[in-house]
Amino acid sequence: MDKSHDKVWNSCLAIIKDIVEWQHFKTWFEPIKPVALKDKILTIQVPSQFFYEYLEEHYVNLLAKTLKRELGKEARLEYRIMVDSGNEKNKPLTMDVTGHGFKTYSNNEMDFPLVIHNPVKNPFVIPGLKKMQIDSQLNPIYTFESFVEGDCNRVARRAGKTVAEKPGATSFNPLVIYGGVGLGKTHLAQAVGNEVKRLHPNKVVLYVSSEKFINQFQDHSRNNAINDFIHFYQLIDVLIIDDVQFFNRAEKSQDALFAIFNHLHQSGKQLILSSDKPPKDLEGVQERLLSRFRWGLSADLQTPDYETRIDILEKKMRNDGLEMPREVVKYIAYNIQSNIRELEGALISLLAQSSLNKREIDLDLAKKVLRNFVKTSSKEITIETIQKMVCEYYDVSYEKLLQKTRKREIVQARQITMYLAKIFTKNSLKTIGEHFGGRDHTTVIHSCQTVKDLMDTDNLFRESVIELQQKVQLAAM
Ligand code: ADP
Ligand code: MG
Repeated sequence: MDKSHDKVWNSCLAIIKDIVEWQHFKTWFEPIKPVALKDKILTIQVPSQFFYEYLEEHYVNLLAKTLKRELGKEARLEYRIMVDSGNEKNKPLTMDVTGHGFKTYSNNEMDFPLVIHNPVKNPFVIPGLKKMQIDSQLNPIYTFESFVEGDCNRVARRAGKTVAEKPGATSFNPLVIYGGVGLGKTHLAQAVGNEVKRLHPNKVVLYVSSEKFINQFQDHSRNNAINDFIHFYQLIDVLIIDDVQFFNRAEKSQDALFAIFNHLHQSGKQLILSSDKPPKDLEGVQERLLSRFRWGLSADLQTPDYETRIDILEKKMRNDGLEMPREVVKYIAYNIQSNIRELEGALISLLAQSSLNKREIDLDLAKKVLRNFVKTSSKEITIETIQKMVCEYYDVSYEKLLQKTRKREIVQARQITMYLAKIFTKNSLKTIGEHFGGRDHTTVIHSCQTVKDLMDTDNLFRESVIELQQKVQLAAM
């Protein structure tokens, strides 16, 4: 035995750490324990079935690559899933499973994305290479069904549907989907591909990222096989190229793309491209290509609004058979506004935390988890600001809020204001009291306690406090 499992795993981790976002690394890699290494099979222990599935779904390529770097191409991964962690009397119960994702990479060229079913050295020059042998490289989970429609994506989604129904036969050719990171470009582009396969099983669909395309091109160029490369791509009926902004300055690859584009377009084949900006703003891409990109339809994806964010979260939960309190869903949707990937990330971290700590998902847990996602308040929020927000919310006057009235609504509004001031400002209880017509700190303590108690017992009350809390939080960003 040359290397220990610890050593191998630590080397893998060192690489993974640089690649994976910190939060994800903490959630998905730190809890893993290497337990054995035998015949190039590394066994790692994971805390749950869900955990294992998540790794297989999201990180299998990364795991395969790093492990193969360490152990060579025969490297395999096995998981030991904790079914029950045991106690003094009972040994822990575990279950061993093979990492399935590794099987796909059993041929030599693991960076080569096109899985040809009869492995051959150079698939492009085999006479009579059957089109059907080309694997589309699509992820079946990306469907229209799972792509929630909202104002932010309606046009692009509809265009995608139209293209999927009649690939190559509409004026949406190419279909260019553009928008910022995490807004659904890859999902939508692949949904078109999957839908084409469903409606037209004979059509050959291929999804390829621009990076893959460029890498492949460069490999073929080194081996003087550019014609084979271009010929191969010309076999495709629906070609999806993701993130074309990466073509910038890859001059030679652009030439290849140009040739392929022209051939496919002329033959009535469909092209679908995605980009992080509108074609006109793509820098470092040849004008002749850009003008081709403009031939069809460019549709953008925008950031989803609050309602759509809720819909998306609910859809994901339904699909995964999950449940969580409505207020938590609202809280996430309210706080994560940047993009859908972040939204999913928050949901997943929350699930992971709840399953790792065997704790129900509630607002407290959500706040804890989201703290890592939500930018911490940059603006200092003052007691006055909070007072004004509460007055507006409950439609009471500022003067009344400070007066010594015992009217229930006003007392409650005042208590909530103190509670929020306690959470959102760094003021002492004494200072807070002074801002309410010179009340002392015990009144503030009592108010905060009353609010907490009421939130536990009165749902309506709790909803309104949360809503206010979110308003304040927003004002602090
Ligand atoms: P991009 O390629 O634009 O960076 P992705 O397509 O990878 O974004 O989307 C990020 C994540 O958000 C994916 O998991 C995707 O499934 C999900 N997603 C994006 N848009 C939607 C939508 N409209 N409905 C449901 N999920 C979505
Ligand atoms: Mg993408």
